[in-house]
Parts: sequence; structure tokens; C-alpha cells
Amino acid sequence: MAKIICIANQKGGVGKTTTTVNLAAGLAKLGQRVLLVDLDPQGNATMGSGIDKREVELSVYDVLLESATVQEAVVKAESCGYGVLSANRELAGAEVELVQLAHRDQRLRSALALVDADYDFVLIDCPPSLSMLTLNGLCSAHGVIVPMQCEYFALEGLTDLVNTIKQVHANLNKDLKIMGLLRVMFDPRITLQVQVSDQLKAHFGNKVFDTVIPRNVRLAEAPSYGLPGVVFDPSAKGSQAYVDFARELVQRAPSL
Ligand code: ADP
Ligand code: MG
Repeated sequence: MAKIICIANQKGGVGKTTTTVNLAAGLAKLGQRVLLVDLDPQGNATMGSGIDKREVELSVYDVLLESATVQEAVVKAESCGYGVLSANRELAGAEVELVQLAHRDQRLRSALALVDADYDFVLIDCPPSLSMLTLNGLCSAHGVIVPMQCEYFALEGLTDLVNTIKQVHANLNKDLKIMGLLRVMFDPRITLQVQVSDQLKAHFGNKVFDTVIPRNVRLAEAPSYGLPGVVFDPSAKGSQAYVDFARELVQRAPSL
């Protein structure tokens, strides 16, 4: 059975997409069968996996509107070792189109159920909003990984996300929980970041993953080559951290 995980945080630019593509590549390296679902109309995870979003014939949009199955729409990211359900601008329209449809928040869940035996992990890259697209992600998933920067305002956004997750848990998907907070873009030379990191650990305990992802320019450069950092430069500190994180996730997954 696939472990289905949303990478979510309604703030933009906090490292969701970077986490999704690098975790996918890291898990693939460890021999796990991985499907990446790009739920952001920006299509950054699609492009960052080496798939041209303007050229894909079937995307997650077609799956949400039930004009294609996951199996039909999935594209193999050849250099990365995982499958991608891609996204492009068309997906922005799905938001409006879904409103009129029955079970509009359960569409992705139903579609993923058909490929449950084909993957060990399904990673869903969510858009930076608590929208119908994100709701489809949350209704499909066993849990949420929240990437966050160790900055003063990081915790503010967390309250809204936690409340949404609680509501989805209560009304739509009783499996859903927060699997953990992942500290990303971490710079140990910045005292405030170390303090916030310590506070997170003190407050949330084992809901904070042990692995910390450092700020590392190679992770930021990799997307322009259409690759996750883990594939583009495996020896970079950031890439190694994501593979460590993949290992931590595999170890902890049964209890998450
Ligand atoms: P989101 O998907 O939450 O909007 P992204 O993953 O696109 O965030 O990251 C935002 C920006 O930060 C991107 O330019 C990305 O390359 C960069 N970035 C993400 N993680 C790191 C990191 N660990 N070190 C350096 N740059 C990073
Ligand atoms: Mg993104």
C-alpha cells in the first residue's frame, strides 16, 4: 500500500517544491517506487523533474476532471527515477470547474486508489494556498509534511494550516495527520534560526524531523537544469541532507 504524503504550507517560497522533488529522488535512490503529484498550476515540480509542462498531453488536470486515469497521465521522469503526474496552467481552471462537480474534494483520492499497489510513496506538491486543489491533496493523504524556515513568522502560518488539517481530519479524511515539520534552508550561523529551531523541537518534540536541510545553492541551481539537486549534484550538502531525510522517512513511515 502506498504511503500518500502532502507537502504543504500555505506560504509561498518556503521550500515545498524543492522538498517534493528532492525527497522523491532520494526515495527513488533508496529503491522506493515513487509517484510525484504536482498540484500547483505553476508546474515547478514538473519542470524541476525534467518534464516540459507545455508539452505534456495529459496532466493532473485531466485526472481531476476524470478524463484520464493516473496510469494514463503519469510520465516517467527518466533521470530522476520516479513517475510524475504533471501540472501546468490549465490546472488553475480546475479550481472553478471542480466547484460544480460532485465529490469535488475526493477526486484525487479516488484516482490514486487505483494505483495504490504500484507505488511505495506518493508525494503531493501543494500550491501555496488552502484551495480546492490543496483540499484534494489533503483528502487523499495519510499525512502532511510541513517544510518550514526557522524564522520568526514561521509559526504564524502554521496555526492556519493546523486548523485546516484538523477540519479535514474531522470531516473529510480521518486518516490525515501531521507527519512532521521539516526544517529547511537552515543556516546555523544565524542565531535566530538556531533559536527558532530549538523552540520547534521543544514545542513539537518528535513531530519535528531529525534531519535538517541546510541552505545550499546547489539545490537552488538544480531546477534550471530540470533536475532535483539530489540528481544534479549528489555530493552537495543539501542533496545529502535530502537523501538522509528520505532514509529517516522510510524508517519512520510505518509509525507515521
Ligand atoms: P515553494 O514550493 O514553497 O514555493 P520552493 O521549493 O520553490 O518553495 O523554494 C523557493 C526558493 O528557494 C526557490 O528558488 C528554491 O530554489 C530555493 N530553495 C529551496 N530550498 C532551498 C535550500 N535548502 N537552499 C537554498 N535554496 C533553496
Ligand atoms: Mg512550489
